[in-house]
Amino acid sequence: MRRVDAGAPRRAVPRRAFLASLGCAKNLIDSEVMLGRLAGQGWEITARAADADAVIVNTCAFIDPAKAESTDTILEYAAAKRDGQRLIVAGCLAQRYGAQLRELIPEIDAVVGTGAFPKIPEIIAEVEAGLRPLHLEDRDAYVERLGFLPRVVTTPRASAYLKISEGCNHTCSFCIIPQLRGVGKSRTIPSLVEEARALAEGGVKELILVAQDSSDYGRDIGLRDGLARLIEALEDVDGICWIRILYLYPTSVTPAIIAAMRASSKVVPYVDMPLQHAHPEILKAMHRPPQPQRYLELFAALREALPAATIRSTFIVGFPSESEAHFHYLLTFLESACLDRVGFFPYSREEGTDAYEREGQVAERVKRRRLALARETQRRISARVNSSRVGERLDVLIEGKRLVAASSPLRGLVGERLAHVGRSQREAPGVDGLVYLSGEHTVGDFVEATIVGHTDFDRVARQLNRVPSPA
Ligand code: SF4
Repeated sequence: MRRVDAGAPRRAVPRRAFLASLGCAKNLIDSEVMLGRLAGQGWEITARAADADAVIVNTCAFIDPAKAESTDTILEYAAAKRDGQRLIVAGCLAQRYGAQLRELIPEIDAVVGTGAFPKIPEIIAEVEAGLRPLHLEDRDAYVERLGFLPRVVTTPRASAYLKISEGCNHTCSFCIIPQLRGVGKSRTIPSLVEEARALAEGGVKELILVAQDSSDYGRDIGLRDGLARLIEALEDVDGICWIRILYLYPTSVTPAIIAAMRASSKVVPYVDMPLQHAHPEILKAMHRPPQPQRYLELFAALREALPAATIRSTFIVGFPSESEAHFHYLLTFLESACLDRVGFFPYSREEGTDAYEREGQVAERVKRRRLALARETQRRISARVNSSRVGERLDVLIEGKRLVAASSPLRGLVGERLAHVGRSQREAPGVDGLVYLSGEHTVGDFVEATIVGHTDFDRVARQLNRVPSPA
């Protein structure tokens, strides 16, 4: 863990906080801000909930399985809660169901909604004063302060997320996020550059830009082609070697954004663009742009501008009214798009969304069958892509070590029981698998390597050279 910008009044016996962060990278940043504020107030951060004076669960409420995981986690810490320990529930589930959670789970001492993260020390102080607070304030003030708040970075040493905006201006009919996080609210370029500099000074080499829709960045604060302007501004931040942009929206990726990605020496040729479906009728029902042909043209333009681009997307199967014909259209689209990596999710019926009430809900067994078929289709496509890349040279950012089980297909390729792992420009953290390397390496270094093999998910490389930085 690294601390960025946290001046600290210290107590003789520091109190300890434990935080469980669930859900996405955007939620992780909110967790890191809470830890930063607590560390700034003299709290120690512990990895053991049993040792903590305050246990904080930062929850996710995107879809039913995420809500179930969040609720189970709260219940787990509630059951283990000891005398004098505080249990704080934060994040999206707290924002949506905070009052009910507090009523149903008496062990919960405080609820921290999506606008109240930085107030965590003050909220714990309220608990210590005998209150049981519920903080569901507006999140705009939080977003404005984001670059100026201390943060404890918890990602592997050389990488950190940078939240460029909060909320979303789209109205996808399956999605509850705009109700939980509000409409799009961008941070300013100076605040983002300042935070990027602080992260770089703390040893970060890879910045991962996140938002609900990164390509829409800046529109609400009057910036034209805001993401392009931001890329240009971040180009001057010393120490940052890679900038990875996640969550692009197909119709807001403009030629200016593509040109800025191409011109930058730091933006990696990695395109993450959730499409959710390909059939125009389903896209229309999802309230998304029903233009699959335009998606294919956009991929072609991106591949031309960013040679060797890695393209990742996500799709939902079993959306209400999705017929066999719609689903097979999606499979055909996958073959045409030839994407590097794809995540598939079964449609999850979320109360409060437009699609919740739609007719034609698809049976769970049909969703499961379609999910398996979609994954198998993409597995074959990704295997072809991976095979075509054996022999390619790339820089790998070393993140740590992993045990390689004797039964794993990786073992024969790596040849070691304990191998170093890292990521190249082609792998985003958490979703894309890893690059395995034999030999001795230093965490946080870039190693020049060549790909010698792969499994369905991971790749194996052999070192050519250790390089201080690819930039
Ligand atoms: S783009 Fe659609 S799916 Fe993504 S956060 Fe916005 S409303 Fe939800």
